[in-house]
Order: sequence, then structure tokens, then C-alpha cells
Amino acid sequence: MPISKTDFIRGLQCEKMLWLDAHAPEYKIIPPEVQAKLDAGNEFGDNAMGIFGEYTEMTSFHEDGRLYFSAMIEKTKACLEEGTPVLCEASFTWYGNFCAADILKKEGEGYVLYEVKNAYSVRKEFVTDLGFQRFLLRKCGVKVTACKLILRGDTPPEGYACQEEAFSQEEFLEHNGFTYRIVDVTKGAREADKLASDRIFELGKLKRKDMPMPDISPDEHCLTPYRCWYYDFCHKE
Ligand code: SF4
Repeated sequence: MPISKTDFIRGLQCEKMLWLDAHAPEYKIIPPEVQAKLDAGNEFGDNAMGIFGEYTEMTSFHEDGRLYFSAMIEKTKACLEEGTPVLCEASFTWYGNFCAADILKKEGEGYVLYEVKNAYSVRKEFVTDLGFQRFLLRKCGVKVTACKLILRGDTPPEGYACQEEAFSQEEFLEHNGFTYRIVDVTKGAREADKLASDRIFELGKLKRKDMPMPDISPDEHCLTPYRCWYYDFCHKE
């Protein structure tokens, strides 16, 4: 079964989590404060779309409001053939596995891949997310020249613990009243690309109807990097 980048990140944290997403999502509990963060992240992402000036958005909808993935994929193909300079939500599929890239910006013969995160610092899972996208884009024939994160560039709140390593290649941009920090994480994304190549089909199998629930006991991974939405389900078991 094909997977998305969200499936990939969740499956890496815990295979049982991905299995539950596919087979028993009714046990999922998303706390309101987490939902609020997700909504704020979407708003932050929408604001960042125009960060490089004019852009072409691939997002398409069916009449009933659902995302129209095949139309997004076709539009992306056409824009890449035309050499469109900036694409937002550029969509790709390979053996059914899917990702939509927040921003693709043409650079020379290739494209720089950007992922927008409403966060102050680089986290490993953000880089893994980019690695999954890089893998799919490469498989779809796109030359990815660099992978970068677009983060919050304003001052973090007092007490904010930033544990990231120093990144020599970073820049700051102002747009729509926001300050964005752009960090080059190409090296890490290349490593995560290899991880995607190694695990994509194995994780996809977990979504198959005939797959039993993985026998995984709750442990530290239930809280790292994110508190699992099945925490109550597994801890009751
Ligand atoms: S609560 Fe823990 S064991 Fe259960 S699905 Fe989540 S991460 Fe996996």
C-alpha cells in the first residue's frame, strides 16, 4: 500500500501508530491544544507561500471540497515542463506514494525544495520529512539541488530550549509582516532520502488489510518526538 510523508514520519516513530491510523483511527484522540497548533501551522504555511514573490499554486479541489490529488499531480507536471519558477504544493506520486512539497523554487537546471514549519529550530523529524519528499521527487525525475527549512525567524519566547546544531547556511527574509529563517539541511535530507528508500515499502505493508497489529509495547517512543494520539488506547490495553 502506498504511503504519504505523514505516514512515513508516524511509522518511523512507531509502526503500531501507522497501523492504527490505517485500521482503527477511531481510537485516535487529538488534544485541542495540539489541533490548535496544527491549525496555526497551516496558517503559517499559507502565509509563507509568497515568500519568494509570485508563485503558482497546485492545490485543486473536487466540487465537494475534497483535495483533487490527480489534478494536482497533472498541474505540477505541466508547470515543471513549462519551467514555472515557484510552485506551491507541488504534488508527486511514485507507485502511489504521495507528497506535496510546500515550495519548489527553480534554480539553474533544478529546484530547491522548501518545507515550511511553524517552529523556531530545526528538528530531526523536519529533516526526515524533507528526505522523504526528496526521494519521491527524484523518483519522479526532478533534480533537487538543495533542501531547506523555512522556520519562524522572530525571537522565541523566554525559556525556549533550542538544541539544534549551528547551521552555517541560513538567511532571514521578511514577508507579510513575518520574519522567516531559512536553513539549508541538504546533507541531513540526503541521508533521510536513503532511509525513505529503505523503508517506504515495508511501512506501506502495515496498511494492508491482512496485516495484524504490530506487537509493540508502550515506551519512551510514545512521547518522542510527539505524544502519540493513541496514548490512551495503548496504555489502557
Ligand atoms: S501509544 Fe506508543 S505503542 Fe501505542 S501506537 Fe502510540 S507510540 Fe505506538
